[in-house]
Amino acid sequence: MTDLLYQTDSYLRKFDAVVTAVDPENRAVVLDKSAFYPGGGGQPNDTGQLTLQSGVVYAVTKVKKQGSDVLHFLGEDQSLPEVGSQVHGQLDWEHRYLLMRTHTALHVLCGTVFRDYGALVTGGNMEPGKGRMDFEFERLQGELVGEIEAAVNREAQAGHDVRVKILPREEAFQIPDLIRTKINLLPEGIMEVRTVEIVGLDLQADGGTHVRNTSEVGTIKVVDYKSKGAINKRIYIELV
Ligand SMILES: [Zn+2]
Repeated sequence: MTDLLYQTDSYLRKFDAVVTAVDPENRAVVLDKSAFYPGGGGQPNDTGQLTLQSGVVYAVTKVKKQGSDVLHFLGEDQSLPEVGSQVHGQLDWEHRYLLMRTHTALHVLCGTVFRDYGALVTGGNMEPGKGRMDFEFERLQGELVGEIEAAVNREAQAGHDVRVKILPREEAFQIPDLIRTKINLLPEGIMEVRTVEIVGLDLQADGGTHVRNTSEVGTIKVVDYKSKGAINKRIYIELV
């Protein structure tokens, strides 16, 4: 089982850990703890490096969750570390921080569109610096795009704090905002729910990494929108 350091500190970019399992076939290792985000909820996985005490450096090319373990896939062809080895992990911070800004920007979009138009989110995806969200948003037309862009930038610049909490399942299920974002779809076995709140704007069950204040997001551009049917609409954003 890997302790997920990014869940409580998204700004942690270096950490020390111990190898708890090795998968030679996939050139992957499991660590007792990790700051690498393994991907999920529309946010891509982190990349970076692992360094052994001997000085051997491995590129971490991919990271993936497997049950309660996080698998770190190692590039190059040096021999793999042994179980029990101490490693120093380092994230590709430029990549991760841009994803944090992008992910928070998408939540600003989601919170603003719900508040102003009552439209619910049905899905989303992102790359560093850009992303899209799908809404049940029958009324969305070209004229609204400028209005939405102005509103999300007002909210980003307003400097809302972003708060992360880990709540017992029963407690989370009492929160109306979480019910709206379909928390009831969470699998039954999950006893704790991690929530991400943009104070005063948005609250969601979310496993991703976010900036601590919306002022770090910068300027958001609504670059396109698409109709995916009478009700379902997709909005594309980019960070400037
Ligand atoms: Zn999210």
